[in-house]
Amino acid sequence: MSLNRFMISIGILLALLNASAAYAGSAVRDIRLWTAPDHSRLVLDLSGQISYKLFRLHKPERIVIDMMHTTMQASLGKLALPDPVLKSIRHGKPEKGVLRLVLDVKEKVQPRSFLLKPMQGKPYRLVLDLMRPEQTQRDAVAASSRSKKGIIVAVDAGHGGEDPGAIGPHRVMEKDVTLAVAKKLAAAINKMPGMSAVLTRKGDYFVPLKRRVALARKAHADMMISIHADSVRQRDVKGASVYMLSDRGATQDRAARALAAKENAADEVGGVTPLDQVSDPLVSRILGDMFRRDSLNSSQMLAEEMLHRLKKAGPIKYSSPKRARFVVLLAMEIPSVLVELDYISNPSRERQLRSSKHQKALAEALLDGSVGFFEKMGRLKTSARDQSSVRSPYASL
Ligand SMILES: [Zn+2]
Repeated sequence: MSLNRFMISIGILLALLNASAAYAGSAVRDIRLWTAPDHSRLVLDLSGQISYKLFRLHKPERIVIDMMHTTMQASLGKLALPDPVLKSIRHGKPEKGVLRLVLDVKEKVQPRSFLLKPMQGKPYRLVLDLMRPEQTQRDAVAASSRSKKGIIVAVDAGHGGEDPGAIGPHRVMEKDVTLAVAKKLAAAINKMPGMSAVLTRKGDYFVPLKRRVALARKAHADMMISIHADSVRQRDVKGASVYMLSDRGATQDRAARALAAKENAADEVGGVTPLDQVSDPLVSRILGDMFRRDSLNSSQMLAEEMLHRLKKAGPIKYSSPKRARFVVLLAMEIPSVLVELDYISNPSRERQLRSSKHQKALAEALLDGSVGFFEKMGRLKTSARDQSSVRSPYASL
């Protein structure tokens, strides 16, 4: 073929590709499934915006999504199916240019869907939540807190599901580290007489920030710890830091403010609907003039206790607690801290964060910090960890 004819052929081919791209509109590039206790979430990565229709079919129960001018480029085979809600999934083309997804579900689920705009390197996404029926929804947190007495610690594993949090140079994800440490901490707390833990997240799924706070409240938590791992561009930065909520007028430094903004963006990455953003009257009241300073003081004490113990487990970035406006710390009546375990952006610290042994050491430090705090508050006998004896758990704070 002469060069000229070759160029013409290429030209025609490109024109054809353009035409088909224009016709096809958008494509589903990837698909992910996240299983939470009360729902399963399907997320579709899209090459662009789409319009779609969602409807239910009965006997057998199915959820159908018709996406206009959309093609399928993702593999459905990679989904871990069946999950507690979703039995199977298939796609077809009921008419020209329409991509249909059919979801066979195990029960009469309540579907809800929303589109997310591109952000933080994520493309346009279609989120489909299959909410389990009310009667089968078991609020594990409420159920467990009813049966338990004594001091209750809410352990919050940062991020999850669609929101990986920070990602280390060797692709270790913050959401996995936080969950591993949170589970180890919860197990250690549950071994302590007079203490029990509730996890705001138990698996790889996303929980909106305000829901985490609501779960801690529902469990009547006496303390809340939100676990994270930090990340910066400079690879050699290392060490743990502990944060608490800042008072309204208090000056927060720029780094702390930037960190809070980053952590608070989790909702947008993880995917929340306006429905999730319920206004919490307690939060608004707290943010008003009735700011509860005593609670801030106990959070400060808790933060100092945590830092003191973390020093034994690894390097420390800041020697005193820092303050910023983290959404997850808004349960003002509960002493709350947010712990950045270390910098996942540092390759050697990333390796440590991934190691089960180090995770255990960190969990031990956080347990010691919690115990030390309740001892100082007079709710646990001094050195309760060794003596395994507990004073009245309801002694006044
Ligand atoms: Zn985080």
